[in-house]
Amino acid sequence: MTYDSSNIFAKILRGELPAHKVYEDDTAIVMLDIFPQSRGHALVIPKAASRNLLDADPAALSAVMPLVQRVAKAVKGVTGADGIRLAQFNEAPAGQTVFHLHFHIIPVYDGVALGAHGGGKADDAELAVLAKDIAAAL
Ligand code: 5GP
Repeated sequence: MTYDSSNIFAKILRGELPAHKVYEDDTAIVMLDIFPQSRGHALVIPKAASRNLLDADPAALSAVMPLVQRVAKAVKGVTGADGIRLAQFNEAPAGQTVFHLHFHIIPVYDGVALGAHGGGKADDAELAVLAKDIAAAL
């Protein structure tokens, strides 16, 4: 399987589509998922082109993990979540729907079931506030 640069995250990385961006540096962006499984569901997206973990450059993987940790801590602090689930899907049978490598940071709240993967769309105004608060906590 080869990388297709017409995927939605590549378009967001090129600035062709809007996103609730939390953070950006030379190697990655962080944004909120617009179909969140829970309040504060964030995505860490390395800029280097790869479909997923299987074809990623190991150097890009080591570069991004500290950011994944920082975002997990910031999201937990801002949302007051009781735990954080880290998820990452590789190819469609495993649940991948956007074919540019990304890491899901999914807050988990005691006694609250997670929503479906790629379920209902979140409120834009609420995402904008959350994105700002998480950015400030990073
Ligand atoms: P995957 O299934 O590939 O691991 O995850 C793709 C994720 O991207 C899903 O959680 C889905 O809700 C999210 N998503 C799909 N389209 C968009 C979009 O246009 N903007 C944002 N921020 N997230 C998206």
